[in-house]
Amino acid sequence: MTILVTGSAGRVGSKVVQRLLDDGKTVTGFDLRASGIAHPRFREVVGAFDDRAAAAAATEGATAVLHLGAFMSWLPGDADKLHRANVDGTRILLEQAVRANLERVIFASSGEVYPENVPDYLPVDENHPVKPRSPYGLTKLLGEEIVRFVERVSGIPATILRFSHTQGAAELLDPASFFSGPRFFLHPKIRQQESFGNAAAVERLREIDDGRESLVISRNENGRPFKMHITDTRDMIEGILLALSSPKAAGCTYNLGATTPVDFAEAVTLMAKLTGLPVKIVDLPGSGVFYETSNARIRTELGFEPTWTIERMIAEAAAARAERTKAA
Ligand code: NAD
Repeated sequence: MTILVTGSAGRVGSKVVQRLLDDGKTVTGFDLRASGIAHPRFREVVGAFDDRAAAAAATEGATAVLHLGAFMSWLPGDADKLHRANVDGTRILLEQAVRANLERVIFASSGEVYPENVPDYLPVDENHPVKPRSPYGLTKLLGEEIVRFVERVSGIPATILRFSHTQGAAELLDPASFFSGPRFFLHPKIRQQESFGNAAAVERLREIDDGRESLVISRNENGRPFKMHITDTRDMIEGILLALSSPKAAGCTYNLGATTPVDFAEAVTLMAKLTGLPVKIVDLPGSGVFYETSNARIRTELGFEPTWTIERMIAEAAAARAERTKAA
């Protein structure tokens, strides 16, 4: 059995590759970038998902495909690149993959297909209507359609996992982190909002900036702190491997993520306590981010049980930050 893991240089994919190798599996990686993983049971194709020759090379001999790679961006100018990577890339990858002796496809989708931050009801479950609002969310929904189309016409069973937001714990207190920098640190947040062209948000953020590196509690215009799921990548890996090994996951769609959402006021207060960083509070224009997503289906049907609470993640993040500070 050879398992193809796309996005093998990424946050989730690289850890899944390592875990499968540790479990004795033979693995092919496929990513735009080299993963740096060296192992006798690992080969890697460096190339783009929508490059048919690269996709053919990557899928050769695969008995399962974990399609975990994707381009993630919320910048206004990135729509073409998103569609090439996530829509055409998924189509071409799977067209090539069905030529191999495939038994299973697992696809990493996203809560942005609902989208969770503009919910019709809470908690968001798998029956929630899908009405993405970002180009990224649209490409994930189109990816899901391609996966189900391929499943219908080829008979190869597929599982769609709608991922919660996920990070390695150490990223939480790293101002350079793609996600956590702008989420929890004031200066990266100002730069992010500038790049999105959100002038009103930039103005509010600048008002509270005293020049120091600070944590920031984001709230909506009525002072309600943001709330969303942040799932440790280690829990996501358990969910992905469960979906791969469970026959009853075939043909199913699951939300995959932590059980409890994170209240930003509580989380940032704990971060400040463990790091000594100052905290600023900002009330941003609009209704803000405030959602809860149900993982009941994957817990009940597959026995998924996340173990990394946000408190455990923040403790690990604070230790990692202290190490970085010592080394600098
Ligand atoms: P990541 O950005 O760390 O990894 C994605 C990998 O895909 C990268 O290594 C990148 O080089 C590769 N890639 C991008 N475009 C490519 C292309 N055209 N051809 C080949 N490789 C390409 O992302 P992650 O956090 O590991 O996310 C894994 C999956 O989970 C993605 O499908 C993402 O859309 C989905 N997801 C992630 C989150 C999250 O919060 N991290 C949330 C919801 C869904």
